[in-house]
Amino acid sequence: MIEAAARGISKVLLIDDAPEIHALFRAHLKALPIELVHAFSGTEGLDAASTHRPALILLDYQMPDMDGMTVLKTLKENADLASIPVMLVTGADDQKTVSEAFALGAADYIRKPVCAAEVKARVTRELHTQALMAELSRRAYHDTLTGLPNREFLVEQIERTIERKRRDPAYHFAVLFFDFDRFKNVNDSLGHEVGDSLLMEIAERFRCNLRSVGTVSLYESSTVARIGGDEFVVLLEGLSSPGDAESIAGRLLEAFAQGYQLGEHEVFSTASVGIVTSELGHETVAALLRDADTAMYEAKSAGRGRYAVFDRSMRMRVKRKLEIESALYQAIEQQQFVLHYQPIICLTTGRVESVEALIRWKHPERGLLYPDRFVSIAEEVGLIVPIGDWVLREAVRQFAEWQSRGAHAPSSVSVNLARQQLLVPRFVERVEQILAEAGVARSDLYLEVTESEMMRDAVATTAVLKALQELGVRIQMDDFGTGHSSLACLRDFPFDVLKIDRSFVQSMGDGRDLMAVLNAIIELAHDLDMRTVAEGIESAEQVISLQALNCDFGQGYYFAKPLPAEEIPAFTERMNTGVAMAEAIPAGDVPVFRRVGIAGH
Ligand code: C2E
Ligand code: MG
Ligand code: MG
Repeated sequence: MIEAAARGISKVLLIDDAPEIHALFRAHLKALPIELVHAFSGTEGLDAASTHRPALILLDYQMPDMDGMTVLKTLKENADLASIPVMLVTGADDQKTVSEAFALGAADYIRKPVCAAEVKARVTRELHTQALMAELSRRAYHDTLTGLPNREFLVEQIERTIERKRRDPAYHFAVLFFDFDRFKNVNDSLGHEVGDSLLMEIAERFRCNLRSVGTVSLYESSTVARIGGDEFVVLLEGLSSPGDAESIAGRLLEAFAQGYQLGEHEVFSTASVGIVTSELGHETVAALLRDADTAMYEAKSAGRGRYAVFDRSMRMRVKRKLEIESALYQAIEQQQFVLHYQPIICLTTGRVESVEALIRWKHPERGLLYPDRFVSIAEEVGLIVPIGDWVLREAVRQFAEWQSRGAHAPSSVSVNLARQQLLVPRFVERVEQILAEAGVARSDLYLEVTESEMMRDAVATTAVLKALQELGVRIQMDDFGTGHSSLACLRDFPFDVLKIDRSFVQSMGDGRDLMAVLNAIIELAHDLDMRTVAEGIESAEQVISLQALNCDFGQGYYFAKPLPAEEIPAFTERMNTGVAMAEAIPAGDVPVFRRVGIAGH
């Protein structure tokens, strides 16, 4: 059957009790690309229809065992056979029979005595219509680029699967939502043609791997659909156990971890997968796909190239995120943000070198919120750009105010930057303008970027950071040592200051190895002409150790928590005159600052 279809040959079933009619039709249809199947009674015809699934049935009206009308009715009542078009072969003047046959769903009729030209024309037309309809439905249900089923097809298929699960609770299925990481990059940098080839390769990899996974029979059947740019969904039906979806996702991920050779380019595009299993009892396809998408985002934010299985807590998190997102818009309008400033202390002199501006959100209902609750959401939805602009303006304005009020002002101010801010067109000019308006020297502003922020778009961000540095602004690397490419960042960009992440400082007492690492980091920074800040200092011992390692500056609760702006001048005064240490440091081992003598005694 498949072979016949591949050669473009359609099967036509002729049901007629008269052998001479069979001979006639065979002769008339000889020239057409069809394979004629013969049945000599209604019953035989129904059997043949089931086994052969012909493209067309030619049905005699008058037969001894079962008349044509009964056969037609039986065909139309059978869900599997109802779509096969039926052409009634009947006496020329029998108008009533013809109307009745049309009412029952016949596609056309042929008059007896049959004439060659008419038979050929009607059969040809019917087969063409059929082919066209098949093509149209293939197009309606398939993605033209990859040839995979599309969203419409998938939705109908999942609907049927949900229905089946409803009838049979022991039946398991799963939906795997795939998103391909960095696909957009490929499209943007190598062009759409390469992007298209990548999608076709991805489709092919799905086909191969689902076939081979299928042979170990973890499931009955699978459907892969492309439902958006780089979004693919796999429906696994008849899983032996819902947990098997994970091992299948794992194997597919492995297959996608291999690179693709596209012309002269080798491209890597790992996938992130969200899994929803039938055990959660989703009632609608929309809800199911939405949750699979949510799980996919979880997988993505957990670090790409992995899968996440949806659970109800994810839905809560998404809800909370949406709430925060809409509240953030209000927060911007209603100025609900405030900056606190954490002093950065010179470990040699004990003076306040700088203050780091840290954002807080005065939420009308939930009180003071810290950045870990909202900064990443603001980044995701792009709101970090206006928020970050406000932070920069406010910090610079505040710094100018401290300076204008007298001697006890920090000598510089540090502001955290998100990657998206760096990519805003004319960001460098914006910084220049903010500084000029407030009358603040460019070299008094430190901008902090983390390694992970920088590495995500290294070429573009490095260019902006260089331009800022040329302007005279200083650049600090924040949270050094938390990522995988901290050292690579140092090689690529001449930071002014390196802030050593607090995880190093806080595990300093744990062993000698870490001291050696810290020592190496600080020496390397000094070799590269960078100064170092240790973050998260909480004890006198840590200060002493860091002094021994020649670390330049320190920041942490030991010196001060982030403080409201109005407390900064008094704090600075106390530190710069050596009074603060005397109050704050308990007896025992105390750090010594050269400039203020022995603090605390
Ligand atoms: P960060 O830039 O590394 O800031 C230091 C964080 O460490 C601050 O948390 C600070 O309160 C905390 N910290 C300081 N000393 C200690 C200590 O001794 N012990 C401990 N356990 N923690 C200490 P915070 O204010 O919650 O800020 C968290 C992060 O949020 C910041 O990390 C920064 O990445 C981000 N952030 C804060 N403000 C902004 C902003 O205006 N824009 C952007 N893009 N990000 C910001
Ligand atoms: Mg920072
Ligand atoms: Mg930091």
